[in-house]
Amino acid sequence: MKIGFIGLGNMGAPMAANLAAGGHEVTGFDTVARPEGLTLAVSATDAATGADVVITMLPNGEILRSVADDVLPAMSAGSVLLDCSTVDVTAARAVAEAAQAKGIAALDAPVSGGIGGATAGTLTFMVGGDSSAFATASPLFDIMGQKAVHCGPAGNGQAAKICNNMILGITMIGTCEAFALADKLGLDRQAMFDVVSTSSGYSWTMNAYCPAPGIGPQSPADNDYKPGFAAALMLKDLMLAQAAAESADADTPLGAAAAALYKQFVEDEGQGAMDFSAMLPRFEARGRGA
Ligand code: NAD
Repeated sequence: MKIGFIGLGNMGAPMAANLAAGGHEVTGFDTVARPEGLTLAVSATDAATGADVVITMLPNGEILRSVADDVLPAMSAGSVLLDCSTVDVTAARAVAEAAQAKGIAALDAPVSGGIGGATAGTLTFMVGGDSSAFATASPLFDIMGQKAVHCGPAGNGQAAKICNNMILGITMIGTCEAFALADKLGLDRQAMFDVVSTSSGYSWTMNAYCPAPGIGPQSPADNDYKPGFAAALMLKDLMLAQAAAESADADTPLGAAAAALYKQFVEDEGQGAMDFSAMLPRFEARGRGA
């Protein structure tokens, strides 16, 4: 396929490289990044012209809307606009509507798996949009990832992503709180892991991504909390979840508490570049009054 790839940052560059290595004709564009080994266009419009599929991997919904305004007029009817960024549900649905008005199919397909997954081609895609566009994009999902789940109409991929990451943020905080409490009660961390990882408190954050260094499988905790998944990105997703909850009148008290804690961690305490599991040393250093 002829693919225009817009947004060649930490995630976009390796995803585009995998598609090119997979035999597709990829033309990339980024306002700043100039990754080596990719054919680059002079503008987003240039990258999108004549493409069967235009993929975007951008920082937020506002930028996605402006890039969509630029590229949709250059795209042909029957082509697909595939957004893999994490953006607000409202932006995803607005872009899909604008695309549809021009006879272009839009998919929102945010990912989980991080930079490691983007590089290895093992991302998971959560996809919203119509079934025929999903079928068109499936061979691309197969190259860039290991799994793609069709979640329903436009916006539902973003909905799945923020619900998943709201659970992730809440459980990471719960796991870190429990380790910090265990420390203060004199419970050895390995014993804590051995019990919880095989008991009803188990979770992905405990079993697969343990926030305690030297415990469980290798994780960012074993690498001085270098990300992995940066706390700033977790904050972004928790804020998107709160905005969506507000617009849908959903009661999400723990999501709100997790957003407030990561906001403090990232904005007041300057820890946004640390992995999101660095909540453990934060709790460890505090008492109830702090
Ligand atoms: P990034 O900041 O490294 O990359 C974004 C790129 O978009 C940058 O290179 C920037 O120059 C480019 N860009 C900005 N405005 C543009 C424009 N108008 N036209 C063309 N290019 C433009 O971010 P990233 O880590 O690659 O993340 C991209 C998206 O993926 C985000 O929505 C993020 O939330 C999501 N995501 C990231 C991760 C991760 O671990 N990094 C994991 C899952 C999802």
